Amino acid sequence: MKRSRVVIVGGGLLGAGVANALAARSVPVTLLEATTPGSGASASTFAWANAQKKKPDAYFRLNTDGLAAYHRLAEHAAGRRWFHGVGNVEIATDAASSAALDAVVADLAARGYRAERITARQAAELDPVIDPGRALDAAWFPAEGWVDTERMIADLLDQAGAAGAEIRAHCPVARFEPSGARTKVVLANGEEVLADQVVCAAGAATQRLLAASSITVPLIEEEDRRTRAPGDERYLAVGGLADTAALRVPLRRILHTPDMGLRPTATGRAVLGGDGAGSRVPRSDQGVFGLGPMLIDRARKVFPAFADVPVERVRVGVRPLPADGLTVAGFTERLPGLYVLVTHSGVTLAPHLAELVAGELVDDREAPELAAFRPARFG
Ligand SMILES: Cc1cc2nc3c(=O)[nH]c(=O)nc-3n(C[C@H](O)[C@H](O)[C@H](O)COP(=O)(O)OP(=O)(O)OC[C@H]3O[C@@H](n4cnc5c(N)ncnc54)[C@H](O)[C@@H]3O)c2cc1C
Repeated sequence: MKRSRVVIVGGGLLGAGVANALAARSVPVTLLEATTPGSGASASTFAWANAQKKKPDAYFRLNTDGLAAYHRLAEHAAGRRWFHGVGNVEIATDAASSAALDAVVADLAARGYRAERITARQAAELDPVIDPGRALDAAWFPAEGWVDTERMIADLLDQAGAAGAEIRAHCPVARFEPSGARTKVVLANGEEVLADQVVCAAGAATQRLLAASSITVPLIEEEDRRTRAPGDERYLAVGGLADTAALRVPLRRILHTPDMGLRPTATGRAVLGGDGAGSRVPRSDQGVFGLGPMLIDRARKVFPAFADVPVERVRVGVRPLPADGLTVAGFTERLPGLYVLVTHSGVTLAPHLAELVAGELVDDREAPELAAFRPARFG
């Protein structure tokens, strides 16, 4: 087992997870965060741990393993502070959305994922906020859950710090340079930090940060929403969420309608957004102001209990979104000590990736689960 110094760039869920996994293995770790930990995408996320719509198979398996990692964590009190395995109910409101759920459930169930079709009445038993009069039928994904990312990042960094990791906020990194067998991390203020290994977990800033060191890892950038061809339905990098005021009766489950998602929070509010069109920020900046009313209107159409629930705030986040939609995890060819870790679905994947990456760094053991996700695929 190596004891070399590792510098981690980025204090989101991925950077915090790797810092904690390395510190737990007694590796000397320094984490450099440009602003404050947990202020990037991990703070503006729907935070739904799931493996739906994940293709190809290697990526589906990575995500199902990610979900399984949360269930293992939740066997302990600390993990239960982060992962709320309440399950997800998806509601069909018409024949087309019901047929879509048939297809999703058949596909996932055939691959061993827990998914079943249920009646509107069964859905209402799972969460009384569901009005069986407004649902045609539903699907139930009992293994899914949501993650309290703020608490998780704080806990991971506390644990890492207690195990000896150094956590430095307000330390933006400008570039990486070779330095003999080591890698030099150059901060924006000119300070240089030498490391045996560096993990770049800078989220949506990854492409620009690596470009400064002539390394190519293409992401779908925030600007793409302005230039996107009509009909291109891939995720936009920018996504929006609305937080409601506290509900009289808190949500019990994650819920999806055909055009939005809702999930509970630790404070009895609901986060509106989700995987459907509702999470996509309109393409103009002005459109962002309409996001709260748009999402709450959609919720009210299906859930009468939201009739008098106000939106308290709207959040806009930028997804770290590799150009091919898949995780990037591995050492770069140009700087062999520099490991890149960037992914969408980073909430689902964080604990699993943290363990795999720590294993690759410390034990010099390539994780077969990551073979399909190396940065070399971008040339
Ligand atoms: C609207 C929205 C909804 C989402 N929904 C889901 C979901 O339901 N399920 C799911 O699994 N995933 C979801 N995601 C994706 C998920 O949130 C991200 O994949 C995950 O949070 C990424 O974590 P991260 O640590 O890589 O990035 P971040 O949380 O962005 O952290 C990166 C950190 O790096 C720092 N940094 C950047 N540049 C530098 C630099 N030069 N020097 C030092 N530090 C730097 C940043 O300040 C930031 O703190 C969603 C994302 C969005 C935006």
